[in-house]
Amino acid sequence: MPDSPPIDAGDVAPAVADLDTIVSLSKRRGFIFPSSEIYGGINAVWDYGPLGVELKNNVKRAWWRSMIQERTDIVGLDAGILMHPEVWVTSGHVASFSDPLVECASCHRRYRLDELPGTEGLSATELREDGVVERLKLVCPNDGGRLSAPRRFNLMFKTHMGPVEEDAAIVYLRPETAQGSYVNFKNVLASSRKKLPFGIAQIGKSFRNEISPGNFVFRMREFEQMEMQYFVHPGDAARVAFNEWLPMRRAWYERYGVAPGRLRLREHAPDELAPYAKKAVDVEYRFPFGWKELEGVHNRGDFDLGNHAQASGANLEYFDPATDEHFIPWIVETAAGADRAAFTFLIDAYREEQVRGETRVVLGLHPELAPYKVAVLPLLKKRREIVELCQQLRADLARDVLAVYDDTAAIGKLYRRQDEIGTPWCVTVDVESLEDRAVTIRDRDTMTQERIPVEGVRQAIADRLAAARA
Ligand code: ATP
Repeated sequence: MPDSPPIDAGDVAPAVADLDTIVSLSKRRGFIFPSSEIYGGINAVWDYGPLGVELKNNVKRAWWRSMIQERTDIVGLDAGILMHPEVWVTSGHVASFSDPLVECASCHRRYRLDELPGTEGLSATELREDGVVERLKLVCPNDGGRLSAPRRFNLMFKTHMGPVEEDAAIVYLRPETAQGSYVNFKNVLASSRKKLPFGIAQIGKSFRNEISPGNFVFRMREFEQMEMQYFVHPGDAARVAFNEWLPMRRAWYERYGVAPGRLRLREHAPDELAPYAKKAVDVEYRFPFGWKELEGVHNRGDFDLGNHAQASGANLEYFDPATDEHFIPWIVETAAGADRAAFTFLIDAYREEQVRGETRVVLGLHPELAPYKVAVLPLLKKRREIVELCQQLRADLARDVLAVYDDTAAIGKLYRRQDEIGTPWCVTVDVESLEDRAVTIRDRDTMTQERIPVEGVRQAIADRLAAARA
């Protein structure tokens, strides 16, 4: 699907002007590294470092909490990445999960047609017209070379199942998690005894051989999705569910700290809709490189269960005892990316402030998303009793949350380091603590400090986390 047109002058500013700020922070502090870097890297695959894996796990937990834990009508699923190859024929992916690819005749670089400069604002129909490259006078952005006519490039990765390499053994790495929920509809329905409307939620890896990946972790070839399929009565119930899910999904990003002004909704034009979709609206975020999709909400009608029922011969109908009717449920899908969401929270949390003539970098992450919830710091690492008390406090806190101990610099520097990785609270043990059994809690955002009894630290952190959650 094409990305959004460029940003006009009246647009809102991104939270961070230059993406490199986030890329270098990610590398320096251990959020995200290029994959296989010592071999020169592999395009569009990224590895999550010690802090990145915490952030991404927290994002996935926050999604699971709001989709499953806080509701009674959605259940979880973890389907395999490899599926029966017929699934992808029936879903339409083998025939049409493709992007228009053009190639430069001189440097042989390949581009996605709708991402070339000069195609902004064109409709899907215009992009499909014959001779579009000549008509728009499109040339290679690298060397001005002649570009080929577009051809459809299928984005699915293929591999072979078992010790044979014949065509009959071809399987695909799933390009979305949704199909796992459709083919398990009957199993989930029978085992969970859910009544319509109900949902199946999944988090898992997906793979797409993207033509032009880029913008750091925005578009990768291996990534993770957080998708929920909501099964409803046919027709108007799907419209109603769609209208409920769309604002809820936008609100989820706001709940975890994204500035409302940097979120917007964009409805797909009729000629842009995927074959399965009756209606599609994207939640978009103002990234440093423009407004881009964060999540899609789709009314998929009976396309999926209808086609799978027909192709497999399985009965995927739902029986409603109230009306004595059998029918194929319709589906409203919310399709988000775990990497894209984590990336968004990272960007939107970043700020630089002037404090007493120095620049303070703060990641104002929601406490629930922050990699470390609390850092325990000694004012004097030479005093054995202070270090011991710190270690005890950290171990006590670690029963509930991820807590870290650090004594590798002076206290001012230790605070700045925790600010930069988003740790919401620092607990400092000083010489007086040994006398009065009290320590200082410092708040990342306000930098205010409060003295509390050692025995109350664990509860104080739990209370602050609960308050942030509420
Ligand atoms: P695009 O138009 O950006 O190619 P799409 O409309 O094909 O994306 P969906 O199929 O709706 O995307 O996927 C749902 C979500 O999965 C997206 O909103 C995004 O958050 C995430 N996602 C999709 N493709 C990628 C990718 N290549 N890298 C990272 N996340 C992705």
